[in-house]
Formats: sequence, C-alpha cells, structure tokens
Amino acid sequence: MARHLVVGGAGYVGSHLVAELLARGEEVVVFDDLSTGHAAAVLAGARLVRASLADPQALDAVLAEGPWRAVFHFAALSLVGDSMRDPLRYLRRNIGEGLALIDACVRHGVRRFVLSSTAALFGSAGSGPIAETSPIDPGSPYGESKWALERALAWTSRIHGLRYAALRYFNAAGADPAGRLGEDHAPETHLIPLAIDAALGRRPPLTVFGTDYPTPDGTAIRDYVHVADLATAHLAALAQLDAGRDAVFNLGTGRGNSVREVIAAVERAAGRAVPHTLGPRRAGDPPMLVAAADAITAATGWTPRFQSLDAIVATALAWRDAHPRGYNDT
Ligand code: UDP
Repeated sequence: MARHLVVGGAGYVGSHLVAELLARGEEVVVFDDLSTGHAAAVLAGARLVRASLADPQALDAVLAEGPWRAVFHFAALSLVGDSMRDPLRYLRRNIGEGLALIDACVRHGVRRFVLSSTAALFGSAGSGPIAETSPIDPGSPYGESKWALERALAWTSRIHGLRYAALRYFNAAGADPAGRLGEDHAPETHLIPLAIDAALGRRPPLTVFGTDYPTPDGTAIRDYVHVADLATAHLAALAQLDAGRDAVFNLGTGRGNSVREVIAAVERAAGRAVPHTLGPRRAGDPPMLVAAADAITAATGWTPRFQSLDAIVATALAWRDAHPRGYNDT
C-alpha cells in the first residue's frame, strides 16, 4: 500500500480517481477546500483534509505526511466560458495555486505528479482528431492556465527530476458505474447533466449554443469520455512515471458527438424529449474537439471501457435520477 495525495479529490473527476485508488487497496488523502467539491464525494476509506491551496501552511503540513507515491492535481477553476469573462482570475488562481503546489512538492521530495490538463489547449484546432503533437493554441484563459502549468512541470522535471504526467481531458462525462458518485456543479453548465435535467423536467429547456458551426449538423462536436475511464488512465500514466518517463497524453475516445447527438442520446436513455431552444455560440467554444486517443493506448495499453455515448449517458442519467439535488441527497 502506498499513499496518494489527491488535490481536488472531492470534485467530479478527482472523486472518481479516489474511488479507483481505493478499489485497488491504496491509501488516499484528499486535499480540497470544498469550494466546488463535496465532502460526500469523498468515499469512506479516504481521508479529507479541508484546506485551500492558497494556504501555504496547510499545504506544507499535508505534504509533510509523506512519503507520497504520487500527487494528483485536480483543483482548479475549470469553465471556459467563465474564463472568457474573468481572465485574470483564472490565470492568477490556476497558475498561482498550481505553482504553489508544484513548488511544495519539490520541497517535500515528491517524485511523481499528475496534472489534470485539458483539450482546451488546442483552442482553434482544425477539423481532425487532435494528437499530442497538434499545435498548442489555447482558445481561452482557462486553456492558457493549464498550458502554463504543463510548461512549469516540464521545467521542474528537467531541473528537479519531478516526473510528471499531463493528461488532457476531452469532455469528462458519466458517473460512477456503482452509483456512488456523479456530476454535481453549482451552477451546472455542462451539456449532459443540463440535458438530463431538462428531460426530467427539473430545469428549463436547454439552450443549444450555436447551430452555425462548420459541422454536419451545425452544432459543436466534442469527445465525451467516461469519468471512470479517466480514472484508470491516471493510473496507467502513473506507471509511465514509475518507469522514469514523463507522460503527456490526450484522453478521449477518438469519437466525436455533436450537441444534437447528445440530446438524442439523452432522449433515448430517458425515454423522454429534451426540451431545448437554439441560441448563439458561447464565447471561447471551438467547433470540434476530438482526441486522436491512440498514444496512451500504444504506451500503456489503456483503452476506454465505455465506448458508446449511450453507455456514458446511461450512467449519468442513473445518478441524476437517484440524486435530484446532487450530493445534497446523499
Ligand atoms: N453546450 C450547449 N448548451 C449548454 C451547455 C453546453 O449547447 O447549455 C455545448 C457547448 O457549447 C459545447 C458542448 O455543449 O459545444 C459541451 O459543453 P460543456 O460545457 O459540457 O463542456 P466543455 O466542452 O465546455 O468543456
């Protein structure tokens, strides 16, 4: 058994990694200020330290509890649209707090660091699948903030020997197949939970952001990857670090779905229509983000278990159905 520190482990993706670590019998400490995460998302078996990355003493105190097998960093502001309204908040918080964590890891002798990164690095990507070697061109301050941390980690690896993985998530979706965890943001801005709640009559109709994109049906295309598959990818990447290699991977399924296709999938799963209206584009949203997802498979053997949008949506629907008020119902 080895100790793992999961910063932001009470959030959506982080909590699913914690579940995977616990399932493998690992010891987990979650460091989270619960500003967007939920105490109820930290499964029994993991210890929650409720503190902020802006608190250097708290950070030093938890890191001093090592040795750590790895530190995972999920804690960040993560909304493209928000970052277009308040760029400096995103740059200051995400870069400043990320650097504070990396610096503390170096001082405490941590050897492996896994960063939640994003497909938003490839902001103005063209029409094909995006490989790790595709040009970096963040389309938003959010994407820029993650790119800055990837660069900081590249230098830290080179100079201090802190091995790192940067995992560029495409669109995290779905919920714990065992039904313990799900997606609960306040306010919710993500397509699948909003479409589900609209179908269930719990929210006003969904607005489709943009119908004039250069895509077959005019709506934006994304690569929806199951959150439990993201969790296993973190552990596959960690094995690369064990082997002495840094690991920069795009994490997706290689399959793109339009907003209209997501609406149709939710309608199939729920057996009800998704009431929706058509609206303008949302600032910062590129037309298409689909991963060329084969590099991590070639390097580690990882492949997503959830291969279809229907299977992903089914898990999201099951959780929202059972938790009308999200974690307030647990
Ligand atoms: N979207 C939409 N209506 C909504 C929320 C999202 O049409 O109410 C679209 C959004 O423009 C994007 C896709 O759905 O093309 C996925 O958006 P989401 O916010 O879920 O994730 P993001 O791609 O921003 O990480």
